Amino acid sequence: MKQRAPKKCHDCDVPPGRFHQFGCDVETCALCGEQLITCPCVYTLSGLDPERLHEDHPDVYCRGPNATMRARYAREVAKYGGRVPWSGDSTGSDLCAELGWYVRPVGSSFVRCKPDAPGAVPDVERLSERARWDPALRRYVVRLRLVR
Ligand SMILES: [Zn+2]
Ligand SMILES: [Zn+2]
Repeated sequence: MKQRAPKKCHDCDVPPGRFHQFGCDVETCALCGEQLITCPCVYTLSGLDPERLHEDHPDVYCRGPNATMRARYAREVAKYGGRVPWSGDSTGSDLCAELGWYVRPVGSSFVRCKPDAPGAVPDVERLSERARWDPALRRYVVRLRLVR
């Protein structure tokens, strides 16, 4: 299979191996593997419920996390090796490649396909159902099914 050329981040334009610009919507949270700009970690680490911010902490809801909260988040991220740099591809696409999880566009939706099918892209959506972010490994791993 042909190796795809490394790409710059499509939001903030940094090359692979570099940190995203602040506020980039592609950056992955090192703690939970979600999109950093929407993940709840900066709130939950400070004991705040992100769903109730507008009622419990209207100041934080309006102005965003304060310096103490951001510092607490940064310290936690540092324990796991710091921020996640842009890898050249969507986070989790390495696991999709290992497992052969690919989809291709058909009409207005995506269907599962072979990795070498025309238009195939890593099926990163499937990560949310079958994989979990491992902060120590700094990558997605297959979620083990509980055997009862
Ligand atoms: Zn970026
Ligand atoms: Zn997070």
